Amino acid sequence: MIPLQPVRGTHDLLPEDFRNQKSVADLACKISELYGFQEMTPPVFELSEVFDRTLGETSDVVTKEMYSFKDRGGDVITLRPEFTAGIARAFLTNGLTQQIPVKFFSRGPVFRHERPQKGRFRQFHQINVEVIGSPSPVTDIEVIALGAHILEELGLSDDINLKLNTLGDLDSRLYYRTKLTEYLLPFQNELSKDSQLRLRRNPLRIFDSKDSGDQKILHEAPLLKDYLNDISCKFFDDVCAGLSELGIAYHIDTRLVRGLDYYTHTAFEFVTSNLGAQGTVMAGGRYDGLIKAMSGKVVPGIGWAAGIERLAIMRGSVDAPSRLISVIPINPNLEKDALKLTKKLRDNGIAADIGYTGNMKKRMARANKLGSPFCVIIGEDELTRDNILLRNMKTGEQVEVPLAKLKEHLACQFS
Ligand code: ATP
Ligand code: MG
Repeated sequence: MIPLQPVRGTHDLLPEDFRNQKSVADLACKISELYGFQEMTPPVFELSEVFDRTLGETSDVVTKEMYSFKDRGGDVITLRPEFTAGIARAFLTNGLTQQIPVKFFSRGPVFRHERPQKGRFRQFHQINVEVIGSPSPVTDIEVIALGAHILEELGLSDDINLKLNTLGDLDSRLYYRTKLTEYLLPFQNELSKDSQLRLRRNPLRIFDSKDSGDQKILHEAPLLKDYLNDISCKFFDDVCAGLSELGIAYHIDTRLVRGLDYYTHTAFEFVTSNLGAQGTVMAGGRYDGLIKAMSGKVVPGIGWAAGIERLAIMRGSVDAPSRLISVIPINPNLEKDALKLTKKLRDNGIAADIGYTGNMKKRMARANKLGSPFCVIIGEDELTRDNILLRNMKTGEQVEVPLAKLKEHLACQFS
């Protein structure tokens, strides 16, 4: 016997869940296209270095959450824990530096070894956008506006707030980093183990800690906003002004840092209080240092990712009215005629299924369960007249329709 449980934190997406999630992603893709984005996708796995050299040695994702393994050829591989690093790699691999700025939309599975709970899984799905090659704050505004637009179209705007912060440029960050380290050093031994490591490698990360002791210590910590240089202040002011211009509401949260390294300037999260501890539905920021760290080339970037499951949970089920016609022969002798007719319907682009098991009552019940709006009933009498019976499943009304006219008849019902 094989184990019948799927691996912890993974799920079978049965048709209803699949439909709900696909509908979120399709809608997001369609709106992204309105903003000039094109869909693309990097591979589901990459050489591990693509992620661990770019996400930062101290990020939770790299230290605890990656699915990494040696493949049969001895390569060290990681299942993607996020899209950005793979897309930046693809940008460089394919020599797209000549085409900047590029605007990419992606969707697909993402893997993180986390403790599963509501809205937190080990295989989950993201929609993701990136703009690579634009240093302008206008791009930050547009990328955030796209996120807000998608949430609005999903009908979730009322339950979601936008938190915004700036991480400043590299100079401001480095200056602030020394100030923060000075403040934290006396508390070194009281910090959580993870944060002690972060203190040495990337103290800003400590703001991202979920440990309440760490958060208490941070209460009085100096804030980055007080150490921003003029360039960083101007950039952030421009982003804020642009969002206001577009009527996009935001709260500035000076403690918001992104979980991954190489972020600069704009950082943002769309959050909700409707999902328990899993409050972040969409998160992103500017990463002007990422491609430099990968290749030495200075190419700025900005993007966001959103968890499709979290969005689909909030949005609930979407109706999918069926157009599937059930073709029902009234006895086994007519199955050949049913097969032929069904093929003809399908050849004409009409979805059709044959009900061929059980008695007439069972076949009708199945047609109902499938949500078929119409049944085509094939009976001997009608067939001698080259007709079939068309039953409207909602009203129960049945009419005799010439076989040759069936297509027009159905097309007219669906128009
Ligand atoms: P969290 O603080 O909830 O762990 P995160 O900062 O790790 O989120 P990101 O790396 O920014 O999340 O990923 C972007 C989005 O992907 C999140 O806002 C969330 O909607 C979704 N997401 C992240 N981790 C998971 C997960 N394990 N299961 C389902 N969705 C997730
Ligand atoms: Mg996380």
